[in-house]
Amino acid sequence: MIEVNHRRYAVPKSPRAIVCLDGSDPAYLDDVLRSARVPTLARFTREGTFAIVNSVVPTFTNPNNVSIVTGAPPAVHGISGNHFFDRAANADVPMNERSYLRAPTILEALQAKGVRVLSVTAKHKLVKLIGAEESAFSAENPGELGRSLVPDRAAPDVYSADASLWVLDAGAAALERGLADVVYLSTTDYVQHKHAPGAPEARAFYEAIDLRLARIERTGAVVALTADHGMNDKTKPDGSPNVVYLASLLDRALGPGTRVTLPITDPYVVHHGALGSCAMIYTSDRDPKKAQSILESTPGIDFVLPRSEAAARYALPPDRIGDLIVLSSRSVVLGKHEEEHDLSHVERGLRSHGGLHEVSVPLILNRRLEKTGHEPRWNYDVFELALSSP
Ligand SMILES: [Zn+2]
Repeated sequence: MIEVNHRRYAVPKSPRAIVCLDGSDPAYLDDVLRSARVPTLARFTREGTFAIVNSVVPTFTNPNNVSIVTGAPPAVHGISGNHFFDRAANADVPMNERSYLRAPTILEALQAKGVRVLSVTAKHKLVKLIGAEESAFSAENPGELGRSLVPDRAAPDVYSADASLWVLDAGAAALERGLADVVYLSTTDYVQHKHAPGAPEARAFYEAIDLRLARIERTGAVVALTADHGMNDKTKPDGSPNVVYLASLLDRALGPGTRVTLPITDPYVVHHGALGSCAMIYTSDRDPKKAQSILESTPGIDFVLPRSEAAARYALPPDRIGDLIVLSSRSVVLGKHEEEHDLSHVERGLRSHGGLHEVSVPLILNRRLEKTGHEPRWNYDVFELALSSP
């Protein structure tokens, strides 16, 4: 056994594949399972284990991927968003560097026990955050190992379905060639941002994923899947993005000086225009109560929580969230000032995430779990399930 962040994990004696299907809202699986398009996933859910669990809030990629590989919430590992306001630097900065992690990962603890671990992600930003350099690469930046594992096609465009399929192909090849004992494979949510459940493109994507899962399973691996967050339409009835511009609103009411940080922001904003359903508000030396009451009376906002309450409720690191954290309603996203967002790519439809309406995610294992009374509750229970399965 190994102990990581006060949880114990079995050191596996056979191969394991842990897959994070980015943005896989349960609605996508419902659709493809109903229409019998995904025989491998259907068998996993029928003969193995299938549960709906929670992701961590804010429901973004970085906090959830890091929760998955540490088995812990953001209060423990320190990653509160894709982006945060660094008070010391007085600037918004991406949380893409390993130095931001405050906790060890399960991957590195396994490596220390001699387990051969490989992490493959679609986006390079993520592999830098979670992977050890010599045993991690991305579809964007595959390196020699990545190219040798997927020799038939070069690094795919990060804004493509293939970026995700490439990740699964690389992981499958590594297991087939006996190069790794445990693989962590994390895809990208380009397809889910673009296409709703039931759309032909979404269905084709999950069918292609299903083929890869079958290939991974043929290596004899225990296969465990979850997602980092769900995904919802964030549009008005006319199809245009449904945005509440918080910085404009607060400037009008209080005068300039309030900082709005959007933790969805990452180097890849084309498919969401940096618009998500969570925002951090920094009121500097002003009383946050004024801003709170203005925001609470704004339509489209579900919750406005002061720092200490948000940190306690969602297990967040208090020093890396705003004075206020704002969570918008199901079909609404939060912006800064209108002119700060490039909406040209989302004019005809915006799907996004970040709030409470994207918390539910699937957890699937190709093994049936014994009922222990400790059923999985979180996406970050996935390593425990995958590693403890016989
Ligand atoms: Zn994501």
